[in-house]
Amino acid sequence: MAEFCSCGSLIIHGNCTKKGCQFHKNSLVDPATYAQIEYIKSLLAQTDSDMEVNFDVIAKSEASRLIDELLKQKELQ
Ligand SMILES: [Zn+2]
Repeated sequence: MAEFCSCGSLIIHGNCTKKGCQFHKNSLVDPATYAQIEYIKSLLAQTDSDMEVNFDVIAKSEASRLIDELLKQKELQ
């Protein structure tokens, strides 16, 4: 379920994705997408991974790297 900021942009875990918005955090310049986060959660559930993922601060590039890693782990099972 998507959440939207008062500026109209998508909010991911309380952070507005619009640069310059008062609710935008600089550390999340390029945050993981909602779809990526959901995908990672489902992969984590499917693998025995004890990986701890902080979805509040994960970047898009980090998320795609994590997805690759989890897909590999899944294949090895
Ligand atoms: Zn905003």
